[in-house]
Amino acid sequence: MPKTKLAIIGSGPAGYTAAIYASRAQLTPILLAGQESGGQLMLTTEIENFPGIDYGQTGPELMLAMREQAARFGTIMLDEYATFVDFSKRPFQIWTSLPENFDLHKLRSLTLEEYTKLRVEYGKTHPAEITAEAIILAMGASTVWLDVPGEAKLIGRGVSSCAVCDAAFFKDKETFVIGGGDSAMEDTLALTKFVKSVTVIHRRDQFRASKIMQERVLNHPKVKVMWSSRVVEIMGEQMVNGVKVATTDPNTTKETIVELPAQGVFVAIGHTPMSWLVGNQIALDQKGFVITRRSPTQAGAEVSLDHLDQHNLVQFPTSTSVEGVFAAGDLVDLRYKQAITAAGSGCEAALDAERWLEAEEIDD
Ligand code: NAP
Repeated sequence: MPKTKLAIIGSGPAGYTAAIYASRAQLTPILLAGQESGGQLMLTTEIENFPGIDYGQTGPELMLAMREQAARFGTIMLDEYATFVDFSKRPFQIWTSLPENFDLHKLRSLTLEEYTKLRVEYGKTHPAEITAEAIILAMGASTVWLDVPGEAKLIGRGVSSCAVCDAAFFKDKETFVIGGGDSAMEDTLALTKFVKSVTVIHRRDQFRASKIMQERVLNHPKVKVMWSSRVVEIMGEQMVNGVKVATTDPNTTKETIVELPAQGVFVAIGHTPMSWLVGNQIALDQKGFVITRRSPTQAGAEVSLDHLDQHNLVQFPTSTSVEGVFAAGDLVDLRYKQAITAAGSGCEAALDAERWLEAEEIDD
């Protein structure tokens, strides 16, 4: 059974950055990268907003470079998924095996109650594959997609989930944003700086976003809104060239479908944090994001105030509700969701884990 001082779960910018820092600190971390390592950036094409990036470098290239950098300093990369964890005692336990007749998809489709029961039962007969004195959780979040025809094949080819990242590639183009929350408003405003037009498609007749963001969007001359509407298909072979939109008449409830030319479709209907692995074991917010003392929420503010040291500094800001378990990246952050913010928080989590291990006097 591999024993490690530090295990990192997740292989996006947060996990890899944590691994670079932890391995340079001689912790020789094990990083569980999953079988499709790299996280959400594997779905992006060119990246322009990561500092120091080479012109034309793509998301997958950046992730490979981070992975190689972490490995070079001694991170042990395992291309496996964590299937269960047990945080009830130290060292913490991590399983990578699956119960008979289960694949990862089936495991993830269980209710929290079923999954917890299975974890406890499985743990009785199957020893954990890895034990770790400290853990950094960096499993990220996944975009909620529309799940309409054409969408999956056109991701990175005109379909995007991050206008802040990709807006500049849509100069003078006709674009659509789907959603009515703050992310959709932010995406719309980011696009207005570059595009010819942006149409917000929202399923209801009012936005849920904050008033100020709504006003900015609704008053912008480049923005149109299609209320009570839904995208039924994204068209195009190599690149997006149109959207099919169904609109419901509020008076007659009759639905009309139109085809509109489009080069960009930005989906902003939410993110799902990949916290199923740790449900019932550490504190999560109502949306399933892991709460740390750095969380940009009321819960984060409250726990941080409970952990001030004598100099009024927050102790181990990336700590979760379980001592020795830290979290970083989009798993924690529903606000910024950028590669650079995830990487920065991965660095913080590694520094916290290193100092925590030192304070606990956990040596090799
Ligand atoms: P959100 O607030 O949950 O909004 C999601 C939007 O997508 C809603 O308008 C929802 O419609 C719509 N939607 C959900 N499922 C859909 C589907 N299947 N088809 C079509 N539309 C669908 O998510 P978010 O905008 O990503 O924001 C997440 C959190 O981050 C929020 O608390 C937000 O305030 C915060 N945030 C803040 C900022 C900022 O302050 N700068 C920026 C971004 C995000 P309904 O309205 O009908 O439910």
